[in-house]
Amino acid sequence: MKIRTLSISSFSILVAGSAFAQQTPQSLADAELPSLLTIYKDLHAHPELSMHEEKSSAFVAKELKAVGCEVAEHLGKYPKSDTKGFGVVGLMKNGTGPTVLVRTDLDALPVEEQTGLPYASTVATKNEKGDDVHVMHACGHDVHMAAFVGVARSLAKLKDQWHGTIVFVGQPAEETGNGARALLDDGLYIKFPKPDFALGFHDNAQMQTGHIGVTEGYTYANVDSVDVTVRGVGGHGAYPHKTKDPIVLSAEMINAWQTIASRENNPIDPIVITVGSIHGGTKHNIIPDEVKMQLTVRTYKAEVRDRVLVAIDRIAQGIATTAGIPADRAPIVTVLKDQYTPATYNNPELTKRLVAVWKKTLGPDNVEATDPTMGGEDFAEYSLPDHSIPAVDFHIGAVDPAKIAESKNSNRPLPSLHSSKFAPVPEPTIRLGMVGMTTAVLELMKN
Ligand SMILES: [Zn+2]
Ligand SMILES: [Zn+2]
Repeated sequence: MKIRTLSISSFSILVAGSAFAQQTPQSLADAELPSLLTIYKDLHAHPELSMHEEKSSAFVAKELKAVGCEVAEHLGKYPKSDTKGFGVVGLMKNGTGPTVLVRTDLDALPVEEQTGLPYASTVATKNEKGDDVHVMHACGHDVHMAAFVGVARSLAKLKDQWHGTIVFVGQPAEETGNGARALLDDGLYIKFPKPDFALGFHDNAQMQTGHIGVTEGYTYANVDSVDVTVRGVGGHGAYPHKTKDPIVLSAEMINAWQTIASRENNPIDPIVITVGSIHGGTKHNIIPDEVKMQLTVRTYKAEVRDRVLVAIDRIAQGIATTAGIPADRAPIVTVLKDQYTPATYNNPELTKRLVAVWKKTLGPDNVEATDPTMGGEDFAEYSLPDHSIPAVDFHIGAVDPAKIAESKNSNRPLPSLHSSKFAPVPEPTIRLGMVGMTTAVLELMKN
């Protein structure tokens, strides 16, 4: 009996000792999850609109300080000089080695939450125009922040497994597409170490929890906004021969622009040209002087983007000329340079390297090759226009597998990101974000 007791206690000491030696991203996720869930619910209940991320950024700064980072706050330079930047950078230094940037976004959306969750947002505020709006973390940036805090806590505890400098970035204004640019314009790569690699993650409203998804190469598109003013010669609706009708011209342009995709472009290179808004005229029987249109243009390759933007202008001018519009009334086509989001390109070599380590850590069936989309993400900015900083932005599954099956059976689509009903399953989504990102950083910085 005595001998048996002795052997059990020495076994326990052995187990405790080896558990300490083998602290892993998974064991740390298990330990941190209760605290991260509390954080998540609090962030979810207190969302802030783009460029107003005051409390979220202060919270992220506090958490980064708590794990020993050197923290800088109020970063970000917007073109409008009176707009405050709420960017946060935390440097975690651990000797000589690579520099890796890890990014979370901070902002929420003007959406009225309809999830019915006990921690649902009831926040309302005024938008830039002064209109009353509700606010919701409908894109899951609260999941990102909670997982990001978990990653920082984990990597602080795993310092025996990596060397180098981690640049933790809390980015404002992702939803408006200008936050990453504002940080770079404020000297992100001058005031702080320029990274060798950049990593980001986003929850995915169509992918099951427990799954990581990643696209090799282009994963999000170039996003351009284009304003077009079609100018005609207005007059009475009964006497079209005395006018140049800008409404008919606009209709011709809208159709002709679609031939850029179908006739001018290599079908292997995706393009989307959407006219999202068209306004002209005041009354049934008046031919107006002008029509205004707003286009979103999506592409991947830089040369395709250049060609499409030139073609939109060329077609507009050509149609106006054909209709006999005088040169001084030619269409005005303006590409809004300050609203451009570059395409996100996942460096293929880095993607392969991370996929290999995720398959090993999470199991091969839990890592998906995701299709690229024509959506936009300003994470792209961190890899610079020439993609010289290898970067990967990966997906974290956020949906209960039973809900995916139910949606397939019933043919009812799942709530998408930005939906008032989008509700990620917090625990497994945060856990996977934390484990996926921590594992990726360790792979790039391992001893
Ligand atoms: Zn979003
Ligand atoms: Zn988002």
